[in-house]
Amino acid sequence: MTIKLNQPIKPNLEKLTHYLAQVNDSGWYTNFGPLHQQLTKRLEVYLGVENLLLVSNGTLALQVAYKALDVKNALTTPFSFVATASSLIWQGIETSFSDIDNATYNLCPQQAKKALDRDSSIDTIVATHVYGNPCNVDRFEELAENNQVNIIYDAAHAFGVNIADKSVLSYGDASTLSFHATKVFHTVEGGAIIFKRKADYERAKRLINFGLGENGQLTEAGINAKLNEYQCAVGLTLLDEVDNILSHRAKLFEAYRCGLQAIVEMPEWHEGANFNGAYMPIKLKNAEQRMLVESILKEHDIHYRQYFSPSLDNVFDDLKVYSNKNSQELSQTTVCLPLHYYMTTSDVIMITNLLKKALM
Ligand SMILES: *Cc1c(COP(=O)(O)O)cnc(C)c1O
Repeated sequence: MTIKLNQPIKPNLEKLTHYLAQVNDSGWYTNFGPLHQQLTKRLEVYLGVENLLLVSNGTLALQVAYKALDVKNALTTPFSFVATASSLIWQGIETSFSDIDNATYNLCPQQAKKALDRDSSIDTIVATHVYGNPCNVDRFEELAENNQVNIIYDAAHAFGVNIADKSVLSYGDASTLSFHATKVFHTVEGGAIIFKRKADYERAKRLINFGLGENGQLTEAGINAKLNEYQCAVGLTLLDEVDNILSHRAKLFEAYRCGLQAIVEMPEWHEGANFNGAYMPIKLKNAEQRMLVESILKEHDIHYRQYFSPSLDNVFDDLKVYSNKNSQELSQTTVCLPLHYYMTTSDVIMITNLLKKALM
């Protein structure tokens, strides 16, 4: 039986239709309609944040955040989904890479500081909470204060993650979420930006509506990045289930970690952070061991992905690289195992037993 790497959550059709009927009744299909307002409020309460702006996808969330914060020159991580870096390049922002931490796989604050010391024109750090594991937010806060740079977190993996009861989304000048169908919570396509400052939120709200202000006056050149009412209906439908989804995923994640901790390495999690079970990464000893694992998974029709690979400094090879050693190595040796809501603990045990047999 095939086990897929991931499977989008299926919204309850009865509930979804109920919301869609409300759209027909109001005749308001997009442009910050009633469902958009409801979803915004409910997400702010659920996530424990303020200044949350819904947008049409996680990539535009990043791009609008860069625009709202006037980013000109950014330092980012080579170990992330391609959108973290490609969004900067697309926006015409000067972009450079520095290395990740060997234990956490997140952008390393010490390496970032070295890059800032060498180039004082860097005005922003864009760091990803890789696999939902929070970056070293305290060290980045220090860096931001000492070097007068913005911190933007690509939090596409970190929905529902807190550090000691404080949302990870409340760190930095802005954090972005993706609500793509493959993420732990989704609106088919969609995303959000959480701003630290109300003024940035208000500017971004105009920017995603062509630069138009509340009474229709044009303030500056914008883009169209609004989330429509149909997609908000999917979000509202799934939000009722999100506690179950996150706790089921966390349970599978812990079953994996328990089963595998003696045989493979895994990223070291931020102290005090909860698991959202967004991904299940394991680190193999070397490329040969990775290929052995891949062949066993293939044989049993268990899907996997080398994630993240290649290291983004290899893809965008004309960009400046301050350091990349760990990213180069981990992109060769890290594999994500299947993890989604429709899997069971016995699926996880079956997979961990296969890996144990192969690697012990
Ligand atoms: C999914 C993802 C994105 C892009 O989000 P979309 O909604 O697909 O545009 C950006 N960064 C990371 C780390 C992601 O995983």
